[in-house]
Amino acid sequence: MIQATEQKRIFLSPPHMSGEEYKYINEAFDTNWIAPLGPNVDAFEREIALYTGVKHAAAVSSGTAAIHLALILLEVKEGDTVFCSSLTFVASANPILYQGATPVFIDSEPETWNMSPEALGKALKEAADKGELPKAIIAVNLYGQMAKMDEIRALSEVYGVPIIEDAAESLGSLYNGKASGGFGKFGIFSFNGNKIITTSGGGMLVSDDEEAIKKAKFIASQARDQAIHYQHSILGFNYRMSNILAGIGRGQLQFLNKRVEARRSIHAYYQKYLSKIPGIDFLPEPENTFSNRWLTAVTIDEKVSGFTISEILKELAENNIEARPVWKPLHLQPLFKTCKYFCHEDHKSISEVLFSRGICLPSGSNLSVEELNRIIDCFYGVSQRKGKIII
Ligand SMILES: *Cc1c(COP(=O)(O)O)cnc(C)c1O
Repeated sequence: MIQATEQKRIFLSPPHMSGEEYKYINEAFDTNWIAPLGPNVDAFEREIALYTGVKHAAAVSSGTAAIHLALILLEVKEGDTVFCSSLTFVASANPILYQGATPVFIDSEPETWNMSPEALGKALKEAADKGELPKAIIAVNLYGQMAKMDEIRALSEVYGVPIIEDAAESLGSLYNGKASGGFGKFGIFSFNGNKIITTSGGGMLVSDDEEAIKKAKFIASQARDQAIHYQHSILGFNYRMSNILAGIGRGQLQFLNKRVEARRSIHAYYQKYLSKIPGIDFLPEPENTFSNRWLTAVTIDEKVSGFTISEILKELAENNIEARPVWKPLHLQPLFKTCKYFCHEDHKSISEVLFSRGICLPSGSNLSVEELNRIIDCFYGVSQRKGKIII
């Protein structure tokens, strides 16, 4: 008998190479344009700008670096506060600390799992009353699902606080037909190995503000003034993307729409088969949004399903399948334990409910039907052991 652990490992979201990347990498090698910057970087920036409909783009070393640059450009400094979604990866908020500023965390709402306009409204009103408005709002589009951008943007305008759209997970998603990345003063993307397209590591800062993107490129290359000697007037960082990695990105970007299609059909497959299990619900996709379905996320209501997320995670692990709980809300992280948090409703923290019930399933665009069936069988197995009937 084959041991379950000897089955091929299924990863949560592995890289999916197209082969087209070689063309651009080879070009860079042939011309010895390895670093720094170069024609692939310029072209990748143009292509991302074109794809997202945002006018200007700066290719950088990571999504985290892109958020950091956005905060620098918004002049976030010590003593300032920045509002940020709580249900997200730590990288959304870490750059706030890099600037010596203080994050304030905003709860999710149940319809998109993203920043609750109700909680944001409360937080902004309280801050305005005290004369302590934040310098920025970092709004995340979780697992590819767009946040309620109309509502969030309306609040941003009323209070005059700019938005940084953390679109690290939502490249290829739409809101009212408009591409993710263009809903704030700045948008950021990540090309980390697990994202919908990858450069092995990298990120992009986008904005319609040409001057701001120019300045971002300057700061991201050690803030070197125009002079023959090395002269520096402000603090810079080494945050630019290399010409080789940008070449990988160009080869990947050509396949983005195909990757979105693949992840959406994986989601549809899960929905078809896992919906037969009572107590399982999916991260919703409101009508005015189109999600790239970067990761398929579900919640399990133990009272109905008869099993917990720990039980299913254990079953998946025993079958050599990688799955994860949804992000642990940042206001619950030891790193941020002194930070303020605003709930969606009084005494009702949606992000905490989602964290206690939510898991992310393998969603790589190169996942096979056999692999999907292996994952679904784990669910059926656990469910049947609990004596639950699959409808
Ligand atoms: C991946 C990710 C980031 C950070 O991107 P890196 O390229 O890994 O630095 C930021 N925010 C969210 C929501 C992410 O998922």
